[in-house]
Amino acid sequence: MGLAAQMLPGVGAFAQSGERKVGYCVIGLGRIADHFMRGVKEGSTSTITGLVSGHRDKAERIAAQYGVPKSSIYSYEDMDKMRENKAIDAVYVALPNSMHAEYTIRSAKAGKHVLCEKPMCTSVSDAEAMIAACKAANVKLMIAYRLHYEPTTLRAIKLIQDGAVGQVQSIVSANGFNESAGEWRLNKALSGGGPLMDVGIYCLNAMRYLTREEPVKFAGFVSTIDKDGRFDTVEENTSWTMQFPSGIQASCTTTYGGSMPGFYRVYGSKGWLQVDEFGYQGLRLTARYSQGRGSPATTLDEPNLEKDPKQFVREADHFTECILKDRAPRTAGEEGLLDMQYMREIYRVAGVTAL
Ligand code: NAD
Repeated sequence: MGLAAQMLPGVGAFAQSGERKVGYCVIGLGRIADHFMRGVKEGSTSTITGLVSGHRDKAERIAAQYGVPKSSIYSYEDMDKMRENKAIDAVYVALPNSMHAEYTIRSAKAGKHVLCEKPMCTSVSDAEAMIAACKAANVKLMIAYRLHYEPTTLRAIKLIQDGAVGQVQSIVSANGFNESAGEWRLNKALSGGGPLMDVGIYCLNAMRYLTREEPVKFAGFVSTIDKDGRFDTVEENTSWTMQFPSGIQASCTTTYGGSMPGFYRVYGSKGWLQVDEFGYQGLRLTARYSQGRGSPATTLDEPNLEKDPKQFVREADHFTECILKDRAPRTAGEEGLLDMQYMREIYRVAGVTAL
């Protein structure tokens, strides 16, 4: 019996109209969880039906906002009881990186589909264990690569695939920020690594969806410039270059030590294309290309393709549709695993023992 057939009406929550909605239990009630829950509320396919938190008071406040019954609030210790909760179809894992594997595997064992934040986890072996656990439990696993569902990103991919900039030769990309002392991201035991794991992964993942190739050669460096105590366990900067089978070269850089607005710029035989911003809104596509000598140049400047950005609605809609229609998510666990393998390789060539 397929998953869709197992999920007959009566399991999970329903819209007031009687239409089937997929119920999500949110594990970890921090900043990204807040964005996700608001996206779910704004959309029409999904609903929040459970919460897992170490702070009961915070969880009760959020539960009241989303209409979650108190009986569907769990602690990290007792969350396995959600197995009995028919209103919870799936979980959204929004915890620090090193906790993703444990909570994904426990959720799968409780019979729940898993939408897990990026980076998938902090080691290749954990990523493999997460995929295996979800397969064994016959539940779906999606990694929350929200840009795969975002219109400006999809437009950039299509323009490149349609040959607008000709044969891609080279791509450059950056994404970073100045991290504050005390954040879990600076604690390797929770983050697994520095900015590569957190925001550099956007550059890495973009190079793969833009080229539709998998990198085969790597060179990379890490450095720490600021000796102010923030970088005692993780590196401050990582830069790397990857080569793809076609010969396309991609150079990326990421930091926790300075303001580094996210972008990528793709250079091809007929021109270039750039997307600024990897964030939740404000993505801007610019391009200039010409189809040959004597042909007029096309210039694009497309800020805010989506006036009212709905990245989290789209992400939840996609996973919900995959659950209801028994389809494989576009960004399944295998996609997260590949990035884990490439990050391990970047660290390896940079001389860092990690992952
Ligand atoms: P956050 O610090 O705002 O939230 C983390 C949550 O985990 C908090 O509710 C905290 O109470 C809980 N937690 C449980 N145990 C903890 C511990 N030992 N230490 C610290 N917190 C603990 O973090 P965030 O920015 O929401 O990031 C959460 C995850 O989401 C990370 O994996 C991050 O990479 C990912 N993320 C993804 C995006 C995106 O755009 N897809 C954006 C931000 C974060």
